Amino acid sequence: MRKLTAIDCLWSDVVRVLEEDRPETRSARTVFAVFVESVETGAFCGLATADDINRHSDWIFADLVEHRPLVSIIPNTGVRLVLKLFEREGLDALPVLGETGAFIGAVTRLSVLQAMLRHERSLLLETRRLNRLLNDEHKQVVSWSERLSNLHQASRTLLGVLAHTSLETDLLQAGIDALCKLLGARYGAIGLLAQNGTLKDFIYSGIGPETAEKIGRLPLGRGLLGVVVHENTSLRLDDMSKDPRSAGFPPHHPPMKSLLAVPVSHGGRVYGRIYLCNKENSEPFTPNDEILAKSFAHSLSLVLDNAREMEEINRARQSLTYMAHFDALTDLPNRTLLEDRSRQALTHARRHSLRFAILFIDLDNFKAINDTLSHQVGDLLLKQAAGAISACLREDDTVARQGGDEFIVLLRSIVNSRDAALVSQKILTALERPFDLNGHEVFIGASIGISIFPDNADDMGTLLANADAAMYHAKRVGKNNYQFFTDEMNYAARRAQKLEKHLRQALNLHELDIYYQAQVQAESGKIIGMEALLRWHNDEFGQVSPADFIPLAEETGLIVSIGEWVLHEACAQAKRWEQAGTPIRVSVNLSARQFQDPQRHNHYQLVDTVKSALDSSGLPPDMLELEITESIMMQHVDITMTIMNRLKSLGVRFSVDDFGTGYSSLSYLKRFPIDTLKIDKSFIGDIVSDPSDTAIVAAIAVMAQQLKLEVVAEGVETNEQFDFLRNLRCDTIQGYFFSKPIPAEEASLLLNKGFGNSP
Ligand code: C2E
Ligand code: MG
Ligand code: MG
Repeated sequence: MRKLTAIDCLWSDVVRVLEEDRPETRSARTVFAVFVESVETGAFCGLATADDINRHSDWIFADLVEHRPLVSIIPNTGVRLVLKLFEREGLDALPVLGETGAFIGAVTRLSVLQAMLRHERSLLLETRRLNRLLNDEHKQVVSWSERLSNLHQASRTLLGVLAHTSLETDLLQAGIDALCKLLGARYGAIGLLAQNGTLKDFIYSGIGPETAEKIGRLPLGRGLLGVVVHENTSLRLDDMSKDPRSAGFPPHHPPMKSLLAVPVSHGGRVYGRIYLCNKENSEPFTPNDEILAKSFAHSLSLVLDNAREMEEINRARQSLTYMAHFDALTDLPNRTLLEDRSRQALTHARRHSLRFAILFIDLDNFKAINDTLSHQVGDLLLKQAAGAISACLREDDTVARQGGDEFIVLLRSIVNSRDAALVSQKILTALERPFDLNGHEVFIGASIGISIFPDNADDMGTLLANADAAMYHAKRVGKNNYQFFTDEMNYAARRAQKLEKHLRQALNLHELDIYYQAQVQAESGKIIGMEALLRWHNDEFGQVSPADFIPLAEETGLIVSIGEWVLHEACAQAKRWEQAGTPIRVSVNLSARQFQDPQRHNHYQLVDTVKSALDSSGLPPDMLELEITESIMMQHVDITMTIMNRLKSLGVRFSVDDFGTGYSSLSYLKRFPIDTLKIDKSFIGDIVSDPSDTAIVAAIAVMAQQLKLEVVAEGVETNEQFDFLRNLRCDTIQGYFFSKPIPAEEASLLLNKGFGNSP
């Protein structure tokens, strides 16, 4: 503030007078300025106060000012000097003169004091104002520092959120709370979307759970937030209701005006959105707010992306561990897990001198079902079989899928082999019942090999191999049974492996041959047919029995090409016999695999093969008889019947081989185009001595006659059997009694010679 001077203290009650004027007191405070000639333009002579006038009431102004020297001050004389002058001169008033000596005004002690007072007051006011100002400023500083600290706190929280690799709800909650605080938003929310676009998480701030529930349920893809997600852009609006894209609010939605919404997205994938509504004090959100929200959303998206990646990695890791230990189809432990458990069992059994058993289970007939009914049905069967086996076991036993239709059971803590036998029987019974596979009723059964620790081996590898060998033996002795391992089995199993290797070469190496066995009319002794029976001679194994290698050929599928060769060969031979003047019907055995060869996916392959065998040989079709078993016909009735009918329409004949060993009824069989029944040799062996065999054969013979089917008795070895059968009116006899299977040249001789009426 400026320093106080004389000009600030001018006295208001100053009256201009002329020197010749006679004073006239007006008030005790009036000061008279005395001029010569003119009060406006005349020379200033001095001041006269009321006191002066009172002292010399008869004087004129000229007298009152004349006797003293003129003391005056200039306008910017400081008040302190003015007060000092008053003291020194003993005056009550002082004139203020300009530079040219012109009268400006007068100051009195009072006017100075008043001015000083005024000045002081204004100084006080100013100080107060400044104080207030300072106060305000202080307050502002405090509030700023509070805001700053909030800001600091909020960004710390955000950073904390973003430092995580997985997002828990409370972290997101802290995040949105902080963001709201930071940007001064009344409401805010993070909406995270599931992969299918539905709202997965809704984390909100500034609203109650009921409201949140309603907002959270809003249909997606609608309105402004839908725009954010679908167009992957941010929105900043001062009044959202004015935006044409706004879908409006549902009832009870809190009123919202300003909006700042940003997508949470990364690499083109939108994880959700963040939005903030109603900035404090009805202000709009600023571009800076948008940058902040975006940067939060960006960091959040990185975290989410990380979390998703981690999740994927974890899931993959889990499924890898699962895949490494479990079979995907049956959910059973796989070989790896079995090995693990076996190791434990082994250690445990060794330490406590206990036994345990390994069961090697192979389903019977699985290949045929898988090949003919489709692999899906095969898979279903494996799953059901796995379940059936598991149900037979105790908790500390393990069943694992070894691959294909093989299962391995680890039976822990058995006391003796009887325990293993009991479980095996239980499994066999469980697998014997029919399986319902998508409407197909299927019978399987299984073959089980058992090896026991420490009786059969004391390491896992050998135990498994031994159980495998025992299983193979179970197959060989007729399937659907269990076998304990014996040392001989090992030999047999190894032999089988070798045999298979050699069988694969047999055709090419011309090791196969066909023998023929005569079928003789019982009444006349006339040879009416020849059954073609395969023989295999191998340098290493010598003569291999069909009972050994036919099942092997069937299992490996080699039977398809071998069977084709047999058909061609047998037809050619029959043609030669016809040309030689001894025409004879040949019977050729067929396998299930030939009816439905899975490799070729051609159901009618067999029809083509038979046709080509007949065509290339020129054999009349009715000279060829095809032997099939009941089980072949029963397995896939529809397709087998179709194939048989096609073959039948070529003119060939059909016989049912090994009749009586299956379950089919004669009347059912009649639906197939059958000409001949071959009674299995198991009924013939004891026919003379066993009355039930006699009854069965007699019944078959009678019914066959009524159905107009030819009957062949197989395996007739003795004269008694022959007589017996002739009495039962069995038309045709086949067996060692007349002839063993013999090479073609020998059979030619036999055909020429004949048996006459007796062998
Ligand atoms: P199968 O068709 O039932 O043939 C009859 C079997 O009984 C033949 O055995 C024959 O040698 C034997 N046999 C004949 N008479 C007697 C007898 O009086 N006593 C005894 N104990 N046995 C007698 P083989 O030749 O060993 O053939 C066994 C089975 O191999 C055949 O049974 C047949 O199912 C199959 N098989 C043979 N050749 C072929 C072929 O080319 N293809 C197919 N798929 N299977 C064949
Ligand atoms: Mg046969
Ligand atoms: Mg037979």
